[in-house]
Amino acid sequence: MIYKRSSALFAAAQKVLPGGVNSPVRAFNAVGGNPIFVERAEGPYLYDEDGNRFIDYINSWGPMILGHAHAPVVNAVKERAEKGTSFGTPTALETEIATLAVSMVPNIDKIRFVNSGTEACMSAVRLARGYTQKDKIIKFAGCYHGHSDSFLIQAGSGAVTFGTPNSPGVTKGTAKDTLLATYNDIDSVQKLFDENDDEIACIILEPVAGNMGCIPPSAGFLEQLRELCDNHKALLVFDEVMTGFRLAKGGAQELYGVNADIVTFGKVIGGGLPVGAFAARNEIMDHLAPEGPVYQAGTLSGNPLAMAAGLAMLKELENDEVYASLKKKTAYLHEGIEEKLKAAKVTHTINRVESMISVHFSETPVTDFESAASGNNETFKKFFHGMLNEGIYLAPSAFETWFLTDALSYEDLDETIAACERVAKTL
Ligand SMILES: *Cc1c(COP(=O)(O)O)cnc(C)c1O
Repeated sequence: MIYKRSSALFAAAQKVLPGGVNSPVRAFNAVGGNPIFVERAEGPYLYDEDGNRFIDYINSWGPMILGHAHAPVVNAVKERAEKGTSFGTPTALETEIATLAVSMVPNIDKIRFVNSGTEACMSAVRLARGYTQKDKIIKFAGCYHGHSDSFLIQAGSGAVTFGTPNSPGVTKGTAKDTLLATYNDIDSVQKLFDENDDEIACIILEPVAGNMGCIPPSAGFLEQLRELCDNHKALLVFDEVMTGFRLAKGGAQELYGVNADIVTFGKVIGGGLPVGAFAARNEIMDHLAPEGPVYQAGTLSGNPLAMAAGLAMLKELENDEVYASLKKKTAYLHEGIEEKLKAAKVTHTINRVESMISVHFSETPVTDFESAASGNNETFKKFFHGMLNEGIYLAPSAFETWFLTDALSYEDLDETIAACERVAKTL
């Protein structure tokens, strides 16, 4: 493939944007080479500025669960745009999407819309601290909850890829209130509670981790966290920015049958526009301004354009068949890739939960950050570039999950598996 225009555009971008990008994971630092510049996208395909077509397995890092330029979403945005894009006043649309979201997700009464997953998680933790009147939080190594200061402690994907797990600019004062546990290791959490008795406001986690590749919670892990939180009067916060409306209508809470106290959303909930949200039962949400004392605000929060896109998306996802179809397609891809890698004797481990899947070039099971980091990064780089040249767009980091879209046909999946067969022979 030829990337002439993308290369020129990247050179121009680097002069005026740090690293040529507006979010570090878009750069190819972890795999080498230059990013492709996308001109347009439709269904499961990306088209770059050089006219190359790629089958997309990132889907804007998750939101495009029904494919790019999905007609109901695009039409809703077009219609709303003509009536004005933001008023800074309440609109009927906000109540409509809130009512729908609350009906789809278990165990929540109220939801507050913000503009990104970062904002959602940052606000959720403030609410947990305000509600419990405690300061410390527990997070897991390798889990990403956006780029706000409290979370940039062993934060998975982007932060790991760039070798700055503890970012400069995060103060020691902030870092000391973030306690670090090991994913799928309940003893590491118990120990933190033992050492910080009565000081822990909440545990925040990705109920299915997606920022160290895809890592499912081990059997009983979420239930044990629930119990620890109940015993210590701490809140359990599920960061469902990635898993919300992706694993099921009701996200991981529904899939695993475990209730969180606060749930955060992003990605799918905005239908591809910048939207985040956090939600909880009344007793917790009542603490939020203007009802309660915990402050949170946003000039563009809940703006009609974003809400129209989100609402159109959620309406489509009320249909459970979407999730059944996505699951089947992801299982099909899993089997296909597994077979080709095995045939070529490439050491690997594939993790999958519903429509999230990741391939680790690792001999051991991948269950936490340490095992995710033990994968062979040189093999990943070759695999990534090999697949890219075959027209398959994967995330440019071994720490990222692939997100499938229901717009993928079985022909697209077969094309991907055939590409994998050719690339596997070069590894
Ligand atoms: C993407 C992501 C975030 C951050 O969302 P942004 O919209 O990028 O700020 C937070 N948590 C998880 C689990 C994510 O995957």
